[in-house]
Amino acid sequence: MKPLSMPVSRRSMITQSTAGAMALAAPRRARAQTSADVIVIGAGLSGLYAAWLLEAQGFTVTVLEGRRRVGGRVFSVDTVPGHPEGGANAIAGAYARLRDMAQRLDIPLQDNGPRRLANRGRTLILGGKVIAPDAWKDSARNPFPRGAKETMPWAYLPKLIAETNPYTSLDDWHAPDFFAHDISMHDFLTSRGASEAVIELAVNTNFTYGTSAHDVSMMQVYALDFWIKFQQQFKAGNMIAKGGNQRLPEGLARALKSEVRFGRRVVGLRNDAHGVDVVCDDGEIYRGAFAICSAPVSVLRLIKVDPVLTGAQAHAVKTVTYTPCTQVHMIPKSPFWEKDGLPPTMWSDGPAGFVAPFKLGDDLSEITSITAFARDVQAAYLDSLDPEAAKAAVLRDIETARPAAKGQLDAVHIHSWQRDPFSLGGDFMLWAPGQIPQFYDTLWAPHGRIHFCGQHAAPTEFGMEGALESGERTALDVMKLM
Ligand SMILES: Cc1cc2nc3c(=O)[nH]c(=O)nc-3n(C[C@H](O)[C@H](O)[C@H](O)COP(=O)(O)OP(=O)(O)OC[C@H]3O[C@@H](n4cnc5c(N)ncnc54)[C@H](O)[C@@H]3O)c2cc1C
Repeated sequence: MKPLSMPVSRRSMITQSTAGAMALAAPRRARAQTSADVIVIGAGLSGLYAAWLLEAQGFTVTVLEGRRRVGGRVFSVDTVPGHPEGGANAIAGAYARLRDMAQRLDIPLQDNGPRRLANRGRTLILGGKVIAPDAWKDSARNPFPRGAKETMPWAYLPKLIAETNPYTSLDDWHAPDFFAHDISMHDFLTSRGASEAVIELAVNTNFTYGTSAHDVSMMQVYALDFWIKFQQQFKAGNMIAKGGNQRLPEGLARALKSEVRFGRRVVGLRNDAHGVDVVCDDGEIYRGAFAICSAPVSVLRLIKVDPVLTGAQAHAVKTVTYTPCTQVHMIPKSPFWEKDGLPPTMWSDGPAGFVAPFKLGDDLSEITSITAFARDVQAAYLDSLDPEAAKAAVLRDIETARPAAKGQLDAVHIHSWQRDPFSLGGDFMLWAPGQIPQFYDTLWAPHGRIHFCGQHAAPTEFGMEGALESGERTALDVMKLM
């Protein structure tokens, strides 16, 4: 596939413009060269999908990607047996766009259900020690009140959310009728009688909703809970792409008429009446009639936008956050869980965080790899160490609690989504209390000829399907204007 057209580099623009006083004197429009109808920033699912839809309607598109690979937060660790996911894992029941796209691009999906969790039980590790399920009730670390002592730390929050979730439709998470629920999870929990000790252990440890119960709105928490339940109604299975989810963005990129341009870190977006100049860190400038920016908000806030974003949109871009996630992928040398008789899945308040085994080979009885998912302060701690020391801290946490694991795990890969300069945050964007009523949809409102897509810009869906939903919405918006 040949590149669509040569980019307009700053050097060539300068040469052209210094070539004659006429060029210098010419208005901006006359000097500008259009390299494509639309410049898409980012070759994650949302950007690639928008590009694919636009090309299908005959528009020319140039996709600029800062990394050396496509996929963004879809990232299969191909160096580990079974290609475990470093990013998006599950393709849920009602991922209609994703399933349709995979079928059209001939990318096989397989049922992940039997493969995902090797063992439904969990080993509880607190302060470096295993606490057996029958000892939990009387453990000094158990913060639950009398009558609830049998609750395992990971079971408390999902139950409470499910019991109180008022949503009945996918749009409810931003509907004014539910603004009364726009309070912090911490306020909600204390109003239900939770003590600080319960919140600290059962909520803030291995927390998947941002950085702490103070930082996330119950409107967002209910949204994710409702969306997951909605997905589960569809019996289409819990799927992954065969050979890793990374095959999905790779297939999309292959289907484009123009090649993705890698190593292009966009640092500026300059709007004028006729188009957008997209400026890369090496000085290259690409011009499109429109630009679609799919960078996560945490990265978008580092891109200079001209004219500047204003009002609620500027406020949102500067302040919304993502759930931190640092992962260590390990290969087991022996089934140490058979030796100590404990489930290989672990829930630790130490650096290892939540540890999940994966069966991703042809033999469904074999655990091909084990991933430690550290969140919140656990992720921040690992990020403060160099990568080898962080891997060692995770292994130490597991081996201290489970001597049978000593020397039996090879920590082969570490990835911090917060330290990654092209995500600067973990899986989903999160809304803090007060943000949904103020910012919902102003966050992704078009700014002149710059349009925004990405998981954060999806009106109803989350995750990979949300990324596609946002890419579709944005591509349609731009098509209407051309
Ligand atoms: C650990 C983890 C677990 C997850 N689990 C699931 C799951 O089980 N199911 C699910 O559906 N979803 C899951 N997700 C979420 C899912 O991966 C994302 O919602 C989705 O992939 C986001 O796609 P996107 O296109 O919006 O953004 P991204 O994938 O982040 O794409 C943005 C692209 O823009 C590029 N970029 C950024 N800045 C610049 C710049 N300045 N210049 C040029 N290029 C730039 C990036 O490199 C990237 O390729 C998970 C994510 C993570 C991290």
